[in-house]
Amino acid sequence: MENKKEKTFQFVVMGGGIAGVTCVEQLSSQIPSADVALITAGPHIKAVTNYKQVSRTLEEFDVEEQPSSVLEEKFPNLTIIHSAVKSLHTKSHCVETADGRVFGYKKLCICSGARPKLLTQDNPYVLGIRDTDSAQEFQKRLSKAKRIVIVGNGGIALELVYEVEGCEVIWAVKDKAIGNTFFDAGAAQFLIPSLEADKPQAAAPCKRPRYTTEEAAPGGSHTFTADRSSQAYGHGPTDSGSALGPDWHEGIALRGAEQVSRRVSVEYQCEVEKIFTSEVLHKSPQQTLRTECAGDWPVYVRLTNAKTFGCDFVVSATGVVPNTEPFLQGNTFVVADDGGLQVDDHMMTSEPDVYAAGDVCTACWEQSPLWQQMRLWTQARQMGWYAGRCMAAHSLSEPVELDFCFELFSHITKFFNYKVVLLGKFNGQGLGPDHELLVRCTKGQEYVKVVLSGGRMVGAVLIGETDLEETFENLILNQMDLTPYGEELLNPDIDIEDYFD
Ligand code: FAD
Repeated sequence: MENKKEKTFQFVVMGGGIAGVTCVEQLSSQIPSADVALITAGPHIKAVTNYKQVSRTLEEFDVEEQPSSVLEEKFPNLTIIHSAVKSLHTKSHCVETADGRVFGYKKLCICSGARPKLLTQDNPYVLGIRDTDSAQEFQKRLSKAKRIVIVGNGGIALELVYEVEGCEVIWAVKDKAIGNTFFDAGAAQFLIPSLEADKPQAAAPCKRPRYTTEEAAPGGSHTFTADRSSQAYGHGPTDSGSALGPDWHEGIALRGAEQVSRRVSVEYQCEVEKIFTSEVLHKSPQQTLRTECAGDWPVYVRLTNAKTFGCDFVVSATGVVPNTEPFLQGNTFVVADDGGLQVDDHMMTSEPDVYAAGDVCTACWEQSPLWQQMRLWTQARQMGWYAGRCMAAHSLSEPVELDFCFELFSHITKFFNYKVVLLGKFNGQGLGPDHELLVRCTKGQEYVKVVLSGGRMVGAVLIGETDLEETFENLILNQMDLTPYGEELLNPDIDIEDYFD
């Protein structure tokens, strides 16, 4: 392999997503004279634009798909190689691309992302959404669909059920409440009316200082219908070049074949038992199954709650699998339980001179009690940036400390058209029963939840325009004992910002 090397670069970064591009930018600006290569499969790269530091740890930005030449123009020492990496030889420090070329590296960063965890492989009726191509394929199929089944309870499923119009949606979630990855049942209850209508609801204040919630009956279901047929549809025309950013669906009309507006039925606490086509159904000797499966649909989904739904296609939004396959063979990477490459507090994998960042890696350092890894844009950017810093520092034999952004988990997003801010252990992750929740909720307006442990704030969920993010971030970071304030902490009549000034 050694003598096949076309060229040896000081730094090679693999993957043109947010993590890889940010890593390249960091390396090229830290050591402008370094020879850097970015190896990526597609012609485009994903760039962070309109970056805004909202507070000490909260950040907001857009993600844009750009031609890779934009990056090369910015950094003269950068070479972009358009080919997928086929294999990695960590002993001889080189990578082999699908087009048969071999490149050496002094230091390598793997930023190959992750792909949707599909319910079944190679089933033409099961779609995963990952990139622009798959989003467009989804849009095309949706335009002819009357009913789809969405399986999963994470961010993508949440966005889809809210955005899809003109098509009935059966939403199968394995939990007792929607959005379990991001919320608890209380927040889910706050959000659910948004599925019924999009007209602003009258705000009815209800102070709920203690956390209570009704649980959905096991295997229960809810149907929400919104008739928006008389309203203008808010999305612009299809833009085939649109980037898959945090607002990835914004440029894409997610409209089905029916005139009706949104109609979502949630099937709680169930998973997919079986997916079968109409041919299989018609050939089935089971008369009961044929009677159960009313209508003529191309595909049927049997859920573990014993209900079967016919539909045009199924969206599998049940999480992601890190893209590690091409790199594992012949090497001795330590792989985490979730399939990611384990990295330490310098973003280093278990192989010498190999770093990893973004969705492909699993953070395995001793983490701050207020931070957890989630495979999100923000963390892909932060990890890519920090991996670049570490690679540069190690090359220059300089010390480097774990970046402050890993002190506190923070994420800003939008669900059901509400601003959502998540801080720290926002869902009491890993805290056991030893924590207290304070909740304030104004229907249709805001939902504020604070997680306290030993009288100190360790997490918060802020839905709506609460304006509390900076104050709560400070209270979480400074770990002040809030016991004396008790429930007053969420009293809407107290200006909390002034209170803690
Ligand atoms: P990716 O962006 O996946 O990039 C991986 C890159 O590696 C790609 O360029 C790929 O071509 C390349 N690659 C892969 N294998 C190879 C190989 N063998 N050789 C060479 N190149 C290779 N996060 C949020 O925070 N907010 C959101 O609203 C949000 N919405 C999302 C919506 C959808 C539909 C999806 C799918 C994800 C969403 N996410 C969101 C998550 C977010 O997209 C990821 O966390 C983020 O993109 C990870 O960045 P990355 O750079 O690690 O990987």
